[in-house]
Amino acid sequence: MSVGLRYGALVGCTLFVFTNFVACGAQMYQVSMRGDHDTTRAHPGSTDPRSPQFGLHAPNGWATLPIDFKVGNSMNPDQVTGLKNAIRSWELAVGKKLFRFSGVHGGVDGDSFPDLYSSLRDQINGEYIDADWDKTAKGSQVLATTIWNTSAADDFTIDTADIRYNSQHYILGDALTLRSSQTREVVDMESLALHELGHLLGLSHVPKSNDSSSIMNPQLFIGEGLVNRRLSSGDLRRVQQIYGCEGEACDITTTVMRISKLKGDHAEGERVVSSGVGSEGLDATNAADDN
Ligand SMILES: [Zn+2]
Repeated sequence: MSVGLRYGALVGCTLFVFTNFVACGAQMYQVSMRGDHDTTRAHPGSTDPRSPQFGLHAPNGWATLPIDFKVGNSMNPDQVTGLKNAIRSWELAVGKKLFRFSGVHGGVDGDSFPDLYSSLRDQINGEYIDADWDKTAKGSQVLATTIWNTSAADDFTIDTADIRYNSQHYILGDALTLRSSQTREVVDMESLALHELGHLLGLSHVPKSNDSSSIMNPQLFIGEGLVNRRLSSGDLRRVQQIYGCEGEACDITTTVMRISKLKGDHAEGERVVSSGVGSEGLDATNAADDN
């Protein structure tokens, strides 16, 4: 653990199931260090629609690119595919390489760590499956959590990060083929990873009232056949605000359509999602995070 690193912000997707609805956590982030002075770590403009930093908790993005990451030992091929598809979408959004897969974290997964934040100490950016989710002290309804260290230089640059996925209470994978069980609902891995990777890249939640089709809305549908694998033009504008753009990606309208077309095979699931938006789902509560 390098001196000077501070434990960073944490974002949780808090899930409340109204039929298939998921409300994904905090409108504001709690950045944990010693409890209470958390929220100052998110950029002050992140919740102000008039600010250039709207929707950005870390406007400086990552200290270095590409982001080297490993996947946990028990992440199955279906989940890896969903994760990689989500990565591809974010890379198309900026027209440049953002991530570099550096293999399986041998013998290690979410369950290897005694709690949530300890996975940040190894300086490896891990995508971890937690079969023993309760140990993270997050509620069973939370789908996944992104945690990060901010840079020693400032609070708005990300240095390392992990994503922890809740496989104790959900079946994570391709929601177009998987079936829910009596006790666990299917969650589309690509959709969930797309949202969590948005946090990992520096994006915060964007209310539906500001951008109703953003992947960073604090809601996500779960269940068989329900996916949201597309990015909005607002998502592209915000991620390009951090990372810039190259080539065709700078044409946001065309790039949104290009990503959408790539997901064309999943039109049925998309249609179910987009037609199923219900205001009842907006009853999100904040994910309160602590050390
Ligand atoms: Zn979220």
